Amino acid sequence: MNCNRAFHLKPIPVGGWAFSLLLILIGVLQNPGISAAVTRPNILFMLADDHTSQAWSCYGGRLAGYAKTPNIDRLAAEGALLKNCFCVNSICVPSRASILTGQYSHRNGVRTLRDSLPSSADNVAKRLQQAGYQTALVGKWHLKEEPAGFDYWNIIKGQGRYHEPTLYEMTLRQGERQEGAYSTDVFTDKALSWLERRDDEKPFCLMLHFKATHEPWNFHPRHAELYKDVKIPEPETLLAQTGPVNSRVPGWPIEILKERMASVGKHGSGKLELKGADPLAQRSEAYQKFVKDFLRCGAAIDENIGRMLAYLDANGLVDNTVVVYTSDQGYFLGEHNYFDKRFMLEESLRMPFVVRYPKEIAPRTVVEEMVLNVDFAQTFLDYAVGEASPTMQGMSIRPVLSGNTPDNWRKAMYYRYFENSAPRPSHYGLRTSNQKLIYYDGLDAATEREKWEFYDLEKDPYENVNQYDAMADKPLMKRLKQQLRAIQAAADDRP
Ligand code: CA
Repeated sequence: MNCNRAFHLKPIPVGGWAFSLLLILIGVLQNPGISAAVTRPNILFMLADDHTSQAWSCYGGRLAGYAKTPNIDRLAAEGALLKNCFCVNSICVPSRASILTGQYSHRNGVRTLRDSLPSSADNVAKRLQQAGYQTALVGKWHLKEEPAGFDYWNIIKGQGRYHEPTLYEMTLRQGERQEGAYSTDVFTDKALSWLERRDDEKPFCLMLHFKATHEPWNFHPRHAELYKDVKIPEPETLLAQTGPVNSRVPGWPIEILKERMASVGKHGSGKLELKGADPLAQRSEAYQKFVKDFLRCGAAIDENIGRMLAYLDANGLVDNTVVVYTSDQGYFLGEHNYFDKRFMLEESLRMPFVVRYPKEIAPRTVVEEMVLNVDFAQTFLDYAVGEASPTMQGMSIRPVLSGNTPDNWRKAMYYRYFENSAPRPSHYGLRTSNQKLIYYDGLDAATEREKWEFYDLEKDPYENVNQYDAMADKPLMKRLKQQLRAIQAAADDRP
């Protein structure tokens, strides 16, 4: 039976609608698989590693004129760009687990880099598979145990390599080194060939996870000349003190990266050769190499997103495919003299996110609502089966993206970073639309008062000065602490 009949009904009188609906319903019941293929959208989820919003042109900012992201910008222009998408624990493994499970780290058990997601755990791929989707995963996995819920998977183990990565197809016991290949390109090759041989009678969910733009930023030689004689603009806080003013947290300065780049020689295409001995000049030199190598890796991602979009264009898949590109967390590109992520500060907390689905999302939509990585799984389920999962903690953003934000949409978020070291202590906190309260529970050698940080994001959007000490006794702090406790309880967490 041809399910297309649902779309080729002849005009009928108004009084005949009930009858025609009945016919459609009978058709669906008789052949659910085929009807599902026509009506349920495909999902193409593309995920980068550390590809922070400052490095996407469509987010504006100081690097907007330097980042080579025309295909990512195309997705923003043809769909929605999320301004306030955040991760609930800014580190690779936990963020990936939260994306797949729709749960906070304390709930799914993946709290730190050392944790793994058991193959037996529930995840969105399993749900989609059960709902009749063809599911595939290519690229970086990083959750240690074998992926579950995917009809096809082909992944690197752990961090893998940028050049000639070893790929593990459907088994972690035996891998195949990809001779002469570059990770970002070869992952896309594998994803495209899976799309080519899929069953096009069924909807698909394809997860394409790039290794880039994770340290050490080994870019492809075709991008070696990019930014060759260019000076990348520095953030205002690069040459200031490390970390926000009045923060007791030691932090993670560029100097650590400078040492790695100057001694190990594995970053970008080789060693950082420092010109002089002045510490601030060296910091600037390290910043230039770091950000150029980072943007070069980003350029390769963008080109490969372009290849994926070209495939959708050429195969009539644009209208019925939800296309997402995002990053597992943000990253500091020299702001506060930091690199890396982990902190609840904006550059690290924010996940850049673009999504295109022409049937429901208007072009050039800009979403200001607060969205979290624990929302992604619910969102995919909403598109695929139209209902939420009670065991997942996030909310579907499908209505938000189509301009129908529910009245009860969240006005604040809960964050918790579990790893603990002296330079980067564990912490948790609350972010509202314009304020942020952080408590560094892992910060030793500090008074109770010194463990708190407060930022007014309207007055100080770059979080340059921790204002907690001046505000500690104000009623606002009492209210924010109550709100933090309430949001913690709502997430069922008890630090
Ligand atoms: Ca990451």
